[in-house]
Amino acid sequence: MPKSVMVYCPKCKKHTEHSVYLYRKGKERAMAEGARRHEEEKRGYGGQKYAELVRTAKTTKKSTIMLKCKVCNFVISKSGIRLRKLELVE
Ligand SMILES: [Zn+2]
Repeated sequence: MPKSVMVYCPKCKKHTEHSVYLYRKGKERAMAEGARRHEEEKRGYGGQKYAELVRTAKTTKKSTIMLKCKVCNFVISKSGIRLRKLELVE
């Protein structure tokens, strides 16, 4: 995939140049409400809240491609694209 593409920007309301990059998950906060609740529910007898995934059937993961407008810095995310590896070329 090229490093920059010409696509429609909903904020500029016209086609502009966008830079392409992959979405990367941010760092998880250990003290977030959901994380604290999950930790509490896992305690004691009863085990897991959700079944633990033993082995995956899929060989690839769905990745999210981010397109950032070079004019207004608006970011469009294109999710659900299955690919092994994304190569950014000039
Ligand atoms: Zn824009």
